[in-house]
Amino acid sequence: LEGDVHRYNFRDMGRRTRQLANALQKLGVEPGDTVGTIAWNGYRHMELYYAVPGIEAVYHTINPRLSAEQLAFVINHAEDKYIFVEAMFLPLLEAIGEQIPGVQGVVVLCEADALPDSSLPGLVSYEALLASESDEFEWPEFDEDTACGLCYTSGTTGKPKGVLYSHRAIVLQAMSTALALELSSSDSVLMIVPMFHVNGWTLPFVAALIGAKVVLPGKDLDGASVWDMLTREEVTFSAGVPTVWQMLLGFLQEEGKDLPQLERIVIGGSAAPRSMLEVFENQYYVEPLHAWGMTETTSMGTSPSILPRIREQGAEPVMQARISQGHKVFGAELKIIDEEGERVPEDGKHPGRLCIRGWAIASAYFKNESTDEFLEGGWFDTGDIATLDDSGYMRITDRAKDLIKSGGEWISSIDLENAALSCPGVAAAAVIGLPHPKWDERPLLIAVRAPGSEPAEQEILDCLASKVAKWWLPDAIVFVDDLPLGATGKVNKLALREQFSGFDGLRATEA
Ligand code: AMP
Repeated sequence: LEGDVHRYNFRDMGRRTRQLANALQKLGVEPGDTVGTIAWNGYRHMELYYAVPGIEAVYHTINPRLSAEQLAFVINHAEDKYIFVEAMFLPLLEAIGEQIPGVQGVVVLCEADALPDSSLPGLVSYEALLASESDEFEWPEFDEDTACGLCYTSGTTGKPKGVLYSHRAIVLQAMSTALALELSSSDSVLMIVPMFHVNGWTLPFVAALIGAKVVLPGKDLDGASVWDMLTREEVTFSAGVPTVWQMLLGFLQEEGKDLPQLERIVIGGSAAPRSMLEVFENQYYVEPLHAWGMTETTSMGTSPSILPRIREQGAEPVMQARISQGHKVFGAELKIIDEEGERVPEDGKHPGRLCIRGWAIASAYFKNESTDEFLEGGWFDTGDIATLDDSGYMRITDRAKDLIKSGGEWISSIDLENAALSCPGVAAAAVIGLPHPKWDERPLLIAVRAPGSEPAEQEILDCLASKVAKWWLPDAIVFVDDLPLGATGKVNKLALREQFSGFDGLRATEA
């Protein structure tokens, strides 16, 4: 039944993956074609991760939190031929059915008798699709630079940007991830990080590479559900964004539970707060590994190794190393540059633009719309501001890109500012992200009222609610007389972030 625990081994998975490969070919999926997925972390999604690239096609993992407009954009831009969708996300596709004419069919990830009614024509269930297929399939051999996966990330404004991964990049990155995280077949891995984000940090591939047990959590990521899975499946390793770990800690504290089997967790996707690192390490005896990565870096770009000489220095230097985003992973290089493109001293004190290059780092966006980030010599400008120290630890200090990361998902400050400017009585608007205990960051809108008008906070929120997703709504609005401007006449966000660093008027957002 949907939602039940499904337990199988890699041999079974291989069998079903070969059935899926046969089914995909029968549907007419050919080398180079793109197949979209809108799914939680589950075994069918895992099978798609292998079968689609296995037949030389490309899996395109779609984030279900995209707006209808963005969803239609990525599906059309990627030229998805088929979409495999979780039943609960079907309404997302129904809402844009007319706008995605290139999609030839939709497969629902469910049993044959659980196919929901839908306005979309010709729906098939995943299990019906597999049922009649042979589990024999000869995997083709092809060039390692062949495209394997596609994932979109948020643009600072407007359209998402696609990153296309090659088989070579995925395999090499999975190997460096396995090494960096010291994973082995003795591990039981709970994959919390969604497979629609950055290839699930390549853990779906790492798991098979090393033969670890994989626990796929489906949709329930609240503290109680995560604790239940950690305990029941004797999980030793897991990875997720700070928001998920915060929810788990809340549950542990409320219920007085502990984490006897869990050995280490990756906290990444947003900055891990010191208090979280301390509680995991000192109260629950779980090693917290703070990592940094991007859609453009295939998965982790830095890993959190603590050098022996730092361990010898005692608890505080170790904590400082944990708070940093760690060392480059094998196969990547980091540098920090100033506005002129010159390297800044690597002394842990001079922040600059963080750049990365390596075998798994994107060299262009899919279909190449935006090229500003791609620098000479294979370097990619991450849009993060960071320091590097003489031991190679990288520490993010700020973000140059105008984006806010809430619960692992992006909010565009520029799009929010434009929405605010279209509300009556708003003359100027700037949006910055402020640290938030549950969501990591939440938007604060700083607005200048138009002369002669006095819009109230609630009026602006009501106006914004008709223009942006609910979870994008600012957690507070502050009115000022004017906004600080930088040398080029643009709003100086750094100054605003400093000015509002102690602001404590954010609403408690639960959405
Ligand atoms: P995405 O492509 O959605 O995975 O987002 C990548 C971005 O998330 C990075 O460029 C950073 O801005 C942010 N990020 C990821 N991991 C961390 C981290 N450990 N600390 C701070 N920011 C992070």
